[in-house]
Amino acid sequence: MYFPSWLSQLYRGLSRPIRRTTQPIWGSVYRSLLQSSQRRIPEFSSFVVRTNTCGELRSSHLGQEVTLCGWIQYRRQNTFLVLRDFDGLVQVIIPQDESAASVKKILCEAPVESVVQVSGTVISRPAGQENPKMPTGEIEIKVKTAELLNACKKLPFEIKDFVKKTEALRLQYRYLDLRSFQMQYNLRLRSQMVMKMREYLCNLHGFVDIETPTLFKRTPGGAKEFLVPSREPGKFYSLPQSPQQFKQLLMVGGLDRYFQVARCYRDEGSRPDRQPEFTQIDIEMSFVDQTGIQSLIEGLLQYSWPNDKDPVVVPFPTMTFAEALATYGTDKPDTRFGMKIIDISDVFRNTEIGFLQDALSKPHGTVKAICIPEGAKYLKRKDIESIRKFAADHFNQEILPVFLNANRNWNSPVANFIMESQRLELIRLMETQEEDVVLLTAGEHNKACSLLGKLRLECADLLETRGVVLRDPTLFSFLWVVDFPLFLPKEENPRELESAHHPFTAPHPSDIHLLYTEPKKARSQHYDLVLNGNEIGGGSIRIHNAELQRYILATLLKEDVKMLSHLLQALDYGAPPHGGIALGLDRLICLVTGSRSIRDVIAFPKSFRGHDLMSNTPDSVPPEELKPYHIRVSKPTDSKAERAH
Ligand code: ASP
Repeated sequence: MYFPSWLSQLYRGLSRPIRRTTQPIWGSVYRSLLQSSQRRIPEFSSFVVRTNTCGELRSSHLGQEVTLCGWIQYRRQNTFLVLRDFDGLVQVIIPQDESAASVKKILCEAPVESVVQVSGTVISRPAGQENPKMPTGEIEIKVKTAELLNACKKLPFEIKDFVKKTEALRLQYRYLDLRSFQMQYNLRLRSQMVMKMREYLCNLHGFVDIETPTLFKRTPGGAKEFLVPSREPGKFYSLPQSPQQFKQLLMVGGLDRYFQVARCYRDEGSRPDRQPEFTQIDIEMSFVDQTGIQSLIEGLLQYSWPNDKDPVVVPFPTMTFAEALATYGTDKPDTRFGMKIIDISDVFRNTEIGFLQDALSKPHGTVKAICIPEGAKYLKRKDIESIRKFAADHFNQEILPVFLNANRNWNSPVANFIMESQRLELIRLMETQEEDVVLLTAGEHNKACSLLGKLRLECADLLETRGVVLRDPTLFSFLWVVDFPLFLPKEENPRELESAHHPFTAPHPSDIHLLYTEPKKARSQHYDLVLNGNEIGGGSIRIHNAELQRYILATLLKEDVKMLSHLLQALDYGAPPHGGIALGLDRLICLVTGSRSIRDVIAFPKSFRGHDLMSNTPDSVPPEELKPYHIRVSKPTDSKAERAH
């Protein structure tokens, strides 16, 4: 069987074509065609007026009469034009003879990006005029008839991936932006991965795909939810931040294995790479433990992973939350490179350096450092200054830079206060090489680690902008982070507790007693999946005992249990032990496609501010339409509105 186009490869799980809609791209896609796969190729021209797609035609079609539909990509000297559809480009010869004057007129006059239908014969290009960079470069179409299906007005931007346009303009004309090769590729790859996930879950492992409501009730704790007014005065629905309660209730209902490609809603304001509505691969299973969920997800990603990437290696490594924080200063470590945080408190026990002495005299005081390889070569004085300023402004922490010169001497504001024995011990612990820079800080463990974790990423970015390759762009580094604390101090009131994951997460079996004595110390059965320093999934084994759930909600989290009475009641009616996870689909696809933003893997995303720039949403509603909802809008005064902007 002949599989002609890049699209076919995608459907066979192949090839990631590189950017730009120019001929070399189609060429590179063509080359990767040579890879093989067993997947069945869909029939792209069934039920429609065309006989073939533009991108699929090859020498093997020579002599065939074809009908094609597509957009005019460009035209040259009224002699030929290039026609584009989702599958690729093909050259169409504009007939020059008198008898075909009407065809010539249509094809010469239709503006670029007009939609046309052409019928003709596939012929070979004259010798020497083949274009090896174009998959269809050996053939062209000798047109007999042409029809202008719809003319295109002057466009706000050219439909070429390499033509620079602002994101606001792309979002305003999203339907045009979607014509770009990159958007087409991203959305098709997304669809393919989801298809394979469905296959894996439903066909191979007996999961049931179940839709859950999006008009629901407020869930205590967690993210802020969007409200939807109802016709009952003062009563509102909430859009669920996730199907968490429903999926647990499905387990009580004996569904055993649930999954859903679930839309979730969180009213968290503008944050980079977050969307007010986003998609999760949401999963729940009965009679499962943490390792069961982890193996399921490893298998799922392995199965759905695009074939042109290096295969996913399983099992994924695991790190405890405590280790992640101590070594990388974050619960989502990017393990593609080193520069780990090292505790050097012992080196400085007898130091004369004031701020180190100060820190170490406190109960949880530590001295920590990271080593920036070749930092002396790549980091400028200005960089070090802005690092120190960042530490002071955001963490109220001092940062001490220590440079190791070529002659292995220190160059630091405090070099004279570092004893020879300390110097040698520091070089040994930090494995410092010539021209490295050590960034040192002192203070409470978590704070010092968080700061160095941020600086580690910052310095990695800086080194990479200066040409050092620290993170291999083809590498996918998965990591499980486990043994999270069950609770964290609330940001706004650190004496109160909030769930580190959500209030339905079960405590670690060996820490249950701590719930009644030192709840802050209890670990949970919560696990996160991290990919290249991004959290792409999270889940937990759940509490299936109503009494324990009630105790955690009411006594420890001080939540209103009435709001969850339906769930608590359900747990009392023979709820099986259960657990689950949700993968953030947008983030995952963003990383797989190497896209700059999750907006590039969503067909109609909201802007950074949460607006749909195409339709101008959210929009105002006339007062009469608000009446049935018993809502009256009081607009902020002009000055307040301005400030809000
Ligand atoms: N519902 C959780 C979330 O959205 C995931 C889970 O615990 O399964 O983070």
